[in-house]
Amino acid sequence: MSIPSTEPPTLPDDLVVLQRDWLSSNNLLCLGEQPAIVDTGHVKHAAQTVHRVREVLGQQALATIAHTHLHSDHCGGTGALQAAWPAVTTWVPEPSLGAVQRWDEAALSFDGTGQRCGRFGADQPLVPGRGVRLGRHDWQIHAAPGHDALAVVLFEPTLGVLLSGDALWEHGVGVIFPHIDGSDDFDTFNDTLDVIERLDPEIVIPGHGAPFSRAGGAIDAALGRARERMAYFNAQPAQHALYAAKVLIKYQLLDVDAMTHADFERWLDAAPSLHLLHQQHRPDLAWPAWLAHVLTPMFSKGVLRRDATHVHDGA
Ligand SMILES: [Zn+2]
Repeated sequence: MSIPSTEPPTLPDDLVVLQRDWLSSNNLLCLGEQPAIVDTGHVKHAAQTVHRVREVLGQQALATIAHTHLHSDHCGGTGALQAAWPAVTTWVPEPSLGAVQRWDEAALSFDGTGQRCGRFGADQPLVPGRGVRLGRHDWQIHAAPGHDALAVVLFEPTLGVLLSGDALWEHGVGVIFPHIDGSDDFDTFNDTLDVIERLDPEIVIPGHGAPFSRAGGAIDAALGRARERMAYFNAQPAQHALYAAKVLIKYQLLDVDAMTHADFERWLDAAPSLHLLHQQHRPDLAWPAWLAHVLTPMFSKGVLRRDATHVHDGA
């Protein structure tokens, strides 16, 4: 009998998943004498993140922060955690270390996507092929480009636990951000799926959604669905552009909850990624017509709502 994939796997006692929503990534706490956290959620929820970490750690100080990648839903709580525990050591994917230290928002891609992220510092590079001690375990660092060119996944081989970030979810795939600016194709994401398959994890703790396990075939099924989705995007790249545009717009409204119509239009006009996606999806349409084409189904399906003065998140 197969275990339903909705049944979350049992994790070792020293690994605590704080499962969050779509605006904030999950946070994994690795307990021990030197407690660590992987991924810190969105800046909107930073106070809540600090509170939830404190609830688990009690009087212990957080010793380490690590990030699977530096999108604003994965590193937005880092500044608040550093303020709460000033002695904490912070690890980021190696190529971003300098950009974080001088807080180069353009290099960190917050500008291009029109997203915001609270400033934080970084001390140590996560280098693929090396390891990082998190709590009681040594975790392998593997490069995981695709969703983000600089992303890593972390794997603990004796437990068989993989922190996949946004390289693998149980359902659906993330936007392939390097595809938006033309710096990469969908095959890189597939290569990362191959890496995950070779690691053959027992349990995957994803950046969003519940952990899922090899038992019952949930990991194989997730890999299969992700590959199918990439095959679809490879065949129809314009559909990826449409998907990415909807994700970016929904994400903005999840962050701010509501915007006046004028502010919403200004935000749309000012987001460089949306202009790139317009060109990839329907360059035959003028910008206002393209926006209407993207937004109309989002309103009719209740993903967004609008009243006389504001656009609201539909949730
Ligand atoms: Zn994410």
